Amino acid sequence: MADLFDITGRVAVITGGGGVLCSEMARALASRGVKVAVLDINEKQAEALAEEIKNQGGNAIAVAVDVLDRASVERARDVVLAKYGTVDILINGAGGNKPEATVSDDMSFFDLPVEAIQWVFNLNILGTILPTQVFGKVMAERGKGVVINISSMAAFRPLTRTVAYCAAKAAVSNFTQWMAVHFSQNYSPNIRVNALAPGFFLTKQNYYLLVDKETGEPTERGRRIISHTPMGRYGEPADLIGTLLWLVSDASSFVNGVVVPVDGAFQAYSGV
Ligand code: NAD
Repeated sequence: MADLFDITGRVAVITGGGGVLCSEMARALASRGVKVAVLDINEKQAEALAEEIKNQGGNAIAVAVDVLDRASVERARDVVLAKYGTVDILINGAGGNKPEATVSDDMSFFDLPVEAIQWVFNLNILGTILPTQVFGKVMAERGKGVVINISSMAAFRPLTRTVAYCAAKAAVSNFTQWMAVHFSQNYSPNIRVNALAPGFFLTKQNYYLLVDKETGEPTERGRRIISHTPMGRYGEPADLIGTLLWLVSDASSFVNGVVVPVDGAFQAYSGV
Protein backbone atom coordinates (compact mmCIF):
# COMPACT_ATOMS: atom_id res chain seq x y z
CA MET A 1 0.00 0.00 0.00
CA ALA A 2 2.81 2.44 0.89
CA ASP A 3 4.21 2.06 -2.66
CA LEU A 4 1.07 3.65 -4.10
CA PHE A 5 2.05 6.92 -2.45
CA ASP A 6 5.78 6.63 -3.15
CA ILE A 7 6.97 9.76 -4.98
CA THR A 8 10.67 9.51 -4.16
CA GLY A 9 12.93 10.96 -6.85
CA ARG A 10 10.20 12.77 -8.77
CA VAL A 11 10.61 16.39 -9.85
CA ALA A 12 8.01 18.97 -8.84
CA VAL A 13 7.66 22.52 -10.13
CA ILE A 14 5.58 24.74 -7.83
CA THR A 15 4.56 28.20 -9.02
CA GLY A 16 3.82 30.60 -6.18
CA GLY A 17 5.99 28.14 -4.26
CA GLY A 18 7.14 30.81 -1.83
CA GLY A 19 3.57 31.56 -0.68
CA VAL A 20 1.77 30.38 2.43
CA LEU A 21 -0.07 27.32 1.09
CA CYS A 22 2.43 26.24 -1.56
CA SER A 23 5.50 26.53 0.67
CA GLU A 24 3.87 23.93 2.93
CA MET A 25 3.34 21.73 -0.15
CA ALA A 26 6.99 22.20 -1.17
CA ARG A 27 8.20 21.17 2.31
CA ALA A 28 5.91 18.12 2.33
CA LEU A 29 7.03 16.93 -1.11
CA ALA A 30 10.71 17.52 -0.34
CA SER A 31 10.44 15.54 2.89
CA ARG A 32 9.20 12.61 0.77
CA GLY A 33 12.23 12.67 -1.52
CA VAL A 34 10.83 14.90 -4.28
CA LYS A 35 13.20 17.35 -6.00
CA VAL A 36 11.41 20.66 -5.71
CA ALA A 37 11.73 23.73 -7.95
CA VAL A 38 10.26 26.69 -6.06
CA LEU A 39 9.11 29.22 -8.68
CA ASP A 40 7.97 32.62 -7.49
CA ILE A 41 7.94 36.24 -8.55
CA ASN A 42 9.25 36.97 -5.07
CA GLU A 43 12.75 35.63 -5.54
CA LYS A 44 13.83 36.22 -1.92
CA GLN A 45 10.90 34.21 -0.59
CA ALA A 46 11.63 31.36 -3.02
CA GLU A 47 15.32 31.37 -2.11
CA ALA A 48 14.62 31.34 1.63
CA LEU A 49 12.37 28.31 1.21
CA ALA A 50 14.83 26.43 -1.01
CA GLU A 51 17.55 27.09 1.60
CA GLU A 52 15.29 25.86 4.40
CA ILE A 53 14.49 22.66 2.48
CA LYS A 54 18.18 22.03 1.77
CA ASN A 55 19.05 22.63 5.42
CA GLN A 56 16.51 19.91 6.30
CA GLY A 57 18.31 17.50 3.94
CA GLY A 58 15.94 17.96 0.99
CA ASN A 59 16.65 18.82 -2.63
CA ALA A 60 15.35 22.20 -3.86
CA ILE A 61 16.12 25.14 -6.13
CA ALA A 62 14.61 28.60 -6.26
CA VAL A 63 13.75 30.09 -9.65
CA ALA A 64 12.46 33.61 -10.23
CA VAL A 65 9.42 33.59 -12.52
CA ASP A 66 6.51 35.71 -13.60
CA VAL A 67 3.75 33.26 -14.51
CA LEU A 68 2.20 35.91 -16.76
CA ASP A 69 5.27 36.22 -18.96
CA ARG A 70 5.83 33.29 -21.32
CA ALA A 71 9.52 34.07 -21.85
CA SER A 72 10.06 34.11 -18.08
CA VAL A 73 8.27 30.74 -17.66
CA GLU A 74 10.34 29.27 -20.50
CA ARG A 75 13.55 30.49 -18.84
CA ALA A 76 12.40 28.83 -15.60
CA ARG A 77 11.69 25.61 -17.50
CA ASP A 78 15.23 25.67 -18.92
CA VAL A 79 16.70 26.12 -15.43
CA VAL A 80 14.62 23.22 -14.05
CA LEU A 81 15.51 20.91 -16.95
CA ALA A 82 19.21 21.78 -16.68
CA LYS A 83 19.17 20.98 -12.96
CA TYR A 84 16.75 18.04 -12.71
CA GLY A 85 16.36 16.77 -16.29
CA THR A 86 12.58 16.44 -16.31
CA VAL A 87 9.28 17.52 -14.77
CA ASP A 88 6.91 14.99 -13.17
CA ILE A 89 4.64 17.29 -11.18
CA LEU A 90 3.44 20.84 -11.85
CA ILE A 91 1.56 22.69 -9.11
CA ASN A 92 0.00 25.91 -10.37
CA GLY A 93 -0.07 27.73 -7.05
CA ALA A 94 0.42 31.38 -8.03
CA GLY A 95 -2.91 33.12 -7.55
CA GLY A 96 -4.86 35.41 -5.29
CA ASN A 97 -7.10 38.42 -4.90
CA LYS A 98 -6.55 42.04 -3.97
CA PRO A 99 -8.57 44.76 -2.20
CA GLU A 100 -8.84 46.94 -5.34
CA ALA A 101 -10.85 44.17 -7.05
CA THR A 102 -13.16 43.67 -4.07
CA VAL A 103 -16.56 45.31 -3.54
CA SER A 104 -16.58 47.30 -0.29
CA ASP A 105 -18.34 50.19 1.47
CA ASP A 106 -16.00 52.53 -0.45
CA MET A 107 -16.10 50.72 -3.80
CA SER A 108 -19.30 49.60 -5.51
CA PHE A 109 -19.40 46.81 -8.07
CA PHE A 110 -20.18 49.46 -10.71
CA ASP A 111 -16.95 51.35 -10.00
CA LEU A 112 -14.46 48.47 -9.73
CA PRO A 113 -11.45 49.45 -11.88
CA VAL A 114 -10.99 47.33 -14.97
CA GLU A 115 -7.23 47.07 -14.27
CA ALA A 116 -7.92 45.43 -10.89
CA ILE A 117 -10.42 42.97 -12.38
CA GLN A 118 -7.96 42.12 -15.12
CA TRP A 119 -5.11 41.68 -12.61
CA VAL A 120 -7.13 39.03 -10.74
CA PHE A 121 -8.26 37.27 -13.94
CA ASN A 122 -4.74 37.22 -15.31
CA LEU A 123 -3.01 35.98 -12.18
CA ASN A 124 -5.45 33.16 -11.48
CA ILE A 125 -6.44 31.83 -14.89
CA LEU A 126 -3.75 33.01 -17.32
CA GLY A 127 -1.17 32.30 -14.60
CA THR A 128 -2.44 28.70 -14.56
CA ILE A 129 -2.79 28.20 -18.32
CA LEU A 130 0.63 29.61 -19.28
CA PRO A 131 2.84 27.41 -17.05
CA THR A 132 0.68 24.44 -18.12
CA GLN A 133 1.53 25.25 -21.74
CA VAL A 134 5.25 25.43 -21.01
CA PHE A 135 5.72 22.59 -18.49
CA GLY A 136 2.82 20.56 -19.90
CA LYS A 137 4.68 20.38 -23.22
CA VAL A 138 7.54 18.63 -21.43
CA MET A 139 5.00 16.17 -20.02
CA ALA A 140 3.34 15.71 -23.43
CA GLU A 141 6.72 14.89 -25.00
CA ARG A 142 7.48 12.21 -22.42
CA GLY A 143 3.85 11.01 -22.15
CA LYS A 144 3.73 11.30 -18.39
CA GLY A 145 3.01 13.82 -15.64
CA VAL A 146 0.66 15.24 -13.06
CA VAL A 147 -0.71 18.78 -12.94
CA ILE A 148 -2.37 20.20 -9.82
CA ASN A 149 -4.27 23.48 -10.10
CA ILE A 150 -5.42 25.51 -7.12
CA SER A 151 -9.08 26.40 -7.36
CA SER A 152 -11.20 27.59 -4.42
CA MET A 153 -14.55 27.34 -2.67
CA ALA A 154 -15.28 30.54 -4.58
CA ALA A 155 -15.47 28.43 -7.74
CA PHE A 156 -18.32 26.24 -6.39
CA ARG A 157 -20.27 29.01 -4.73
CA PRO A 158 -19.69 32.66 -5.52
CA LEU A 159 -18.61 34.51 -2.36
CA THR A 160 -19.87 38.04 -1.77
CA ARG A 161 -17.58 40.95 -2.66
CA THR A 162 -14.75 39.06 -4.43
CA VAL A 163 -16.39 39.13 -7.86
CA ALA A 164 -13.32 38.79 -10.09
CA TYR A 165 -11.70 36.15 -7.91
CA CYS A 166 -14.84 33.96 -7.94
CA ALA A 167 -15.11 34.10 -11.72
CA ALA A 168 -11.39 33.49 -12.18
CA LYS A 169 -11.37 30.45 -9.88
CA ALA A 170 -14.46 29.04 -11.64
CA ALA A 171 -12.36 29.32 -14.80
CA VAL A 172 -9.52 27.42 -13.09
CA SER A 173 -11.91 24.55 -12.25
CA ASN A 174 -13.24 24.52 -15.81
CA PHE A 175 -9.71 24.58 -17.25
CA THR A 176 -8.77 21.65 -14.99
CA GLN A 177 -11.47 19.51 -16.62
CA TRP A 178 -10.65 20.76 -20.12
CA MET A 179 -6.94 20.08 -19.78
CA ALA A 180 -7.48 16.60 -18.29
CA VAL A 181 -9.51 15.62 -21.36
CA HIS A 182 -7.12 17.33 -23.80
CA PHE A 183 -3.97 15.64 -22.48
CA SER A 184 -5.63 12.20 -22.34
CA GLN A 185 -7.13 12.39 -25.82
CA ASN A 186 -4.21 14.03 -27.61
CA TYR A 187 -1.02 13.12 -25.78
CA SER A 188 -1.18 10.43 -23.12
CA PRO A 189 -3.65 8.97 -20.62
CA ASN A 190 -0.72 9.05 -18.20
CA ILE A 191 -0.91 12.82 -17.83
CA ARG A 192 -3.49 13.74 -15.22
CA VAL A 193 -4.84 17.16 -14.27
CA ASN A 194 -6.73 17.72 -11.03
CA ALA A 195 -7.33 20.63 -8.68
CA LEU A 196 -7.49 21.30 -4.98
CA ALA A 197 -10.24 23.65 -3.83
CA PRO A 198 -9.14 24.93 -0.43
CA GLY A 199 -11.86 26.26 1.84
CA PHE A 200 -10.86 29.16 4.10
CA PHE A 201 -7.28 29.42 5.18
CA LEU A 202 -6.23 32.59 6.97
CA THR A 203 -3.49 33.97 4.71
CA LYS A 204 -2.19 37.24 3.28
CA GLN A 205 -4.68 37.33 0.42
CA ASN A 206 -7.79 37.29 2.63
CA TYR A 207 -6.50 38.67 5.96
CA TYR A 208 -7.91 42.13 5.22
CA LEU A 209 -11.37 40.61 4.81
CA LEU A 210 -11.34 38.26 7.79
CA VAL A 211 -9.50 40.14 10.53
CA ASP A 212 -10.24 43.69 11.71
CA LYS A 213 -6.99 45.62 11.22
CA GLU A 214 -7.67 47.91 14.21
CA THR A 215 -8.67 45.32 16.81
CA GLY A 216 -7.27 42.02 15.46
CA GLU A 217 -10.71 40.50 16.12
CA PRO A 218 -12.55 38.46 13.43
CA THR A 219 -14.63 40.61 11.09
CA GLU A 220 -18.33 39.88 10.61
CA ARG A 221 -17.34 38.03 7.40
CA GLY A 222 -14.76 35.98 9.34
CA ARG A 223 -17.38 35.02 11.94
CA ARG A 224 -19.85 34.03 9.23
CA ILE A 225 -17.28 31.82 7.51
CA ILE A 226 -16.50 29.94 10.70
CA SER A 227 -20.18 29.51 11.53
CA HIS A 228 -20.77 28.18 7.98
CA THR A 229 -17.88 25.71 8.30
CA PRO A 230 -19.28 22.64 10.08
CA MET A 231 -15.80 21.74 11.34
CA GLY A 232 -15.76 25.14 13.07
CA ARG A 233 -12.30 26.45 12.13
CA TYR A 234 -10.13 27.81 9.35
CA GLY A 235 -7.95 25.33 7.47
CA GLU A 236 -4.25 25.05 8.26
CA PRO A 237 -1.85 24.72 5.31
CA ALA A 238 -0.98 21.21 6.56
CA ASP A 239 -4.63 20.18 5.98
CA LEU A 240 -3.95 20.22 2.22
CA ILE A 241 -1.06 17.78 2.28
CA GLY A 242 -2.88 14.42 2.44
CA THR A 243 -5.02 15.30 -0.58
CA LEU A 244 -1.98 16.64 -2.43
CA LEU A 245 0.02 13.43 -1.83
CA TRP A 246 -2.92 11.36 -3.05
CA LEU A 247 -3.32 13.43 -6.23
CA VAL A 248 0.38 13.58 -7.19
CA SER A 249 1.04 9.90 -6.54
CA ASP A 250 0.00 6.68 -8.28
CA ALA A 251 -2.62 6.25 -5.52
CA SER A 252 -4.90 8.39 -7.72
CA SER A 253 -3.90 6.80 -11.04
CA PHE A 254 -7.49 6.80 -12.44
CA VAL A 255 -8.51 10.15 -10.92
CA ASN A 256 -8.47 12.81 -13.63
CA GLY A 257 -10.27 16.13 -14.16
CA VAL A 258 -11.63 16.50 -10.62
CA VAL A 259 -11.68 19.43 -8.22
CA VAL A 260 -11.36 18.22 -4.64
CA PRO A 261 -12.70 20.46 -1.86
CA VAL A 262 -10.56 20.59 1.28
CA ASP A 263 -12.89 22.77 3.27
CA GLY A 264 -14.16 21.34 6.56
CA ALA A 265 -17.55 20.69 4.82
CA PHE A 266 -18.15 24.38 3.95
CA GLN A 267 -19.32 23.39 0.47
CA ALA A 268 -21.57 20.59 1.75
CA TYR A 269 -23.42 22.78 4.27
CA SER A 270 -26.64 24.45 3.16
CA GLY A 271 -26.68 26.63 6.26
CA VAL A 272 -29.66 24.75 7.72
P1 NAD B 1 0.14 33.65 -1.15
O1 NAD B 1 -0.05 35.07 -1.57
O2 NAD B 1 0.80 33.36 0.15
O3 NAD B 1 0.94 32.88 -2.29
C1 NAD B 1 0.90 33.22 -3.65
C2 NAD B 1 2.32 33.25 -4.18
O4 NAD B 1 2.27 33.52 -5.58
C3 NAD B 1 3.19 34.34 -3.54
O5 NAD B 1 4.39 33.79 -3.06
C4 NAD B 1 3.46 35.32 -4.68
O6 NAD B 1 4.73 35.95 -4.62
C5 NAD B 1 3.33 34.40 -5.89
N1 NAD B 1 2.99 35.16 -7.11
C6 NAD B 1 2.14 36.20 -7.23
N2 NAD B 1 2.13 36.64 -8.50
C7 NAD B 1 3.00 35.87 -9.19
C8 NAD B 1 3.43 35.85 -10.54
N3 NAD B 1 2.95 36.72 -11.44
N4 NAD B 1 4.34 34.92 -10.90
C9 NAD B 1 4.85 34.04 -10.01
N5 NAD B 1 4.47 34.02 -8.71
C10 NAD B 1 3.56 34.92 -8.31
O7 NAD B 1 -1.30 32.99 -1.25
P2 NAD B 1 -1.90 31.63 -0.68
O8 NAD B 1 -3.01 32.00 0.23
O9 NAD B 1 -0.86 30.70 -0.22
O10 NAD B 1 -2.59 31.08 -2.01
C11 NAD B 1 -2.03 30.09 -2.86
C12 NAD B 1 -3.12 29.67 -3.84
O11 NAD B 1 -4.23 29.13 -3.13
C13 NAD B 1 -3.69 30.82 -4.67
O12 NAD B 1 -4.04 30.36 -5.96
C14 NAD B 1 -4.95 31.19 -3.93
O13 NAD B 1 -5.88 31.85 -4.74
C15 NAD B 1 -5.41 29.80 -3.52
N6 NAD B 1 -6.39 29.75 -2.42
C16 NAD B 1 -6.13 30.31 -1.21
C17 NAD B 1 -7.09 30.22 -0.21
C18 NAD B 1 -6.86 30.82 1.15
O14 NAD B 1 -7.77 30.74 1.98
N7 NAD B 1 -5.71 31.41 1.40
C19 NAD B 1 -8.30 29.56 -0.43
C20 NAD B 1 -8.52 29.00 -1.68
C21 NAD B 1 -7.55 29.09 -2.67
